[in-house]
Amino acid sequence: MSFISGKYNRLTPYTPGEQPKDRKYIKLNTNESPYPPSKNAIKNACEAAKDVMLYSDPQCFKLRQALADRYGVDKDCIICGNGSDDILNFAFSAFCDDKTPAVFADITYGFYPVFAEYNRVPYRIIPLNDDFTVTPSDYYNAKGTVFIANPNAPTGIALRRAQIEEIIKRNPDNVVVTDEAYVDFGAESCVPLTKKYKNLLITQTFSKSRSLAGARLGFGIADPALINDLNTVRYSTNPYNVNSMTLAAGIGSLEDQKYTDENCEKIIKTRQITAGSLKKLGFYVTDSCANFLFAKHESLDGEYIYEQLRERGVLVRHFSAPRIKDYNRITVGSKEQMEALISALEEIIGRRI
Ligand code: PMP
Repeated sequence: MSFISGKYNRLTPYTPGEQPKDRKYIKLNTNESPYPPSKNAIKNACEAAKDVMLYSDPQCFKLRQALADRYGVDKDCIICGNGSDDILNFAFSAFCDDKTPAVFADITYGFYPVFAEYNRVPYRIIPLNDDFTVTPSDYYNAKGTVFIANPNAPTGIALRRAQIEEIIKRNPDNVVVTDEAYVDFGAESCVPLTKKYKNLLITQTFSKSRSLAGARLGFGIADPALINDLNTVRYSTNPYNVNSMTLAAGIGSLEDQKYTDENCEKIIKTRQITAGSLKKLGFYVTDSCANFLFAKHESLDGEYIYEQLRERGVLVRHFSAPRIKDYNRITVGSKEQMEALISALEEIIGRRI
């Protein structure tokens, strides 16, 4: 018997990537960083743990100041959240309703339709092109709140800043949300545009480039009026959405920007090498600007590859949606992890490169 309210009848929750406990896997399925967080972040979080009898700062004052300095914006242009998922959920609540549907691609972050259903707002799907690219003009005059992951997930393909700017300009009466969860791995960020356009919200996260996925920290950057709207939702649900250890870890990470930059460079380099090896093994690989690769084999089935890799202790992400069922999304891990991936694939395919 279920007691769940009828308002959630149609809700199919998001399926997070597996976090298996049965054996030790090379985990390339949830786009986490293979590198530990900055020592500075760990030290700060431990220090903050001593004061957890107090509530965390609902204004996230110091972290917002540190983010404002890092991104060259005013701190009133920033909101912090429990992962960027939190901010995206606020955006669906604040900026979508029956007259203003959410608008997003068919192949994109799988949480968007779930947020729409959860907030009980309609959504309109715009299919990607056959090669998974976005045609920006498809989003002109979208008559709804536009959500664009840039780089997109799970394809890794990015639009240029100028292309997103055109989408923002062509939707003057609606909000355009640019989800930049993976932007630090080689795409152009639209943060500078937040000074020019009042209808742009950028979301970013500490989960990927800053190795803090388990700390749950994300943020939004936008014109203060937009941030205010998001805060109306935040203060009506959970003003303490970011705990004090995470706030401290975030500040520690921002103080150690060099460490983040070095890790991003390593991941970009490993991505290039791995893409080259995959191509030699007969894979088609999209042009990814993220910390993952999206790859389809010329003859072997996507699910078969996923299962065979799993048997060999390598976990990647397979999606069953018809358009992408031949693909696997493979997180770019350390050099050693990717070497293990390639040897497992050589065994599965029966040929060495
Ligand atoms: N956007 C995209 C495109 C993602 O893939 C993810 C990670 N699952 C997120 C946002 C949310 O990440 P987090 O809540 O960890 O910041």
